[in-house]
Amino acid sequence: MVDALVFGPHPDDIEICAGGLVLSLRAQGYTVGGVDMTAGEAGTRGSADSRRQEAATGGELLGLAFRECLGLPDGALSADEAARDLVIDVLRRHRPRLVVAPIASDDHPDHSRTGLLVKEARFLAGCSNIGPQGEPWRPDRVLFYPSREPCNPTLIVDISAVFEAKMVAVRAHASQLHDPGSNEPMTNIASPEFLDQIEAANRYFGSLVGFTYGEPFVVEGPLAVDDPMPLVRGRGHKLFGWKP
Ligand SMILES: [Zn+2]
Repeated sequence: MVDALVFGPHPDDIEICAGGLVLSLRAQGYTVGGVDMTAGEAGTRGSADSRRQEAATGGELLGLAFRECLGLPDGALSADEAARDLVIDVLRRHRPRLVVAPIASDDHPDHSRTGLLVKEARFLAGCSNIGPQGEPWRPDRVLFYPSREPCNPTLIVDISAVFEAKMVAVRAHASQLHDPGSNEPMTNIASPEFLDQIEAANRYFGSLVGFTYGEPFVVEGPLAVDDPMPLVRGRGHKLFGWKP
């Protein structure tokens, strides 16, 4: 059983899109697991073997309690019943309260279908007569993360204290990143600018609420809040010394 379970379509997505969230949760004592939908075997660069090793290293650097791969086909992931049952099964086995997944409107079909599968499986995992054998379990919420699409985040997580550690975990995926000596085809993530783009995005989202670095997430439905004061800080408190 873990407090949070983070889904990535490919082996580098958890680190790139939610690595700061994972490290922040870990720093506050929560347990976090990771699930890769595919092994990334159809990637333009790297191999299934190299990517499996990079995922293991990245997971260790993030402090994941475990990292599973569902073995669905990279580049051909379908939001069908068989894939949905795999997600239901993983939710019932690990019983997270919080689930993290890509936004279902993402440009990459593997990402959008992962978002849809996780959204539907979160609900159906709580229905005892649907899906594979296993004790019913319904996580409270899904936090959806964008990758390259513009988004209006519902919440921005302060990752300032863990940003450098996040980037160390991202760099574990060396087969995907810029390598001046590589003869493999160029991709967006392999461009020399990619790591700077992650920093720029995290700086931008952080700046919207007064953090040095922030990761954006979208939540469906209203959030329950006991004390609204920490939520409304962000644009003035650093200037005038107010602390939550
Ligand atoms: Zn991906």
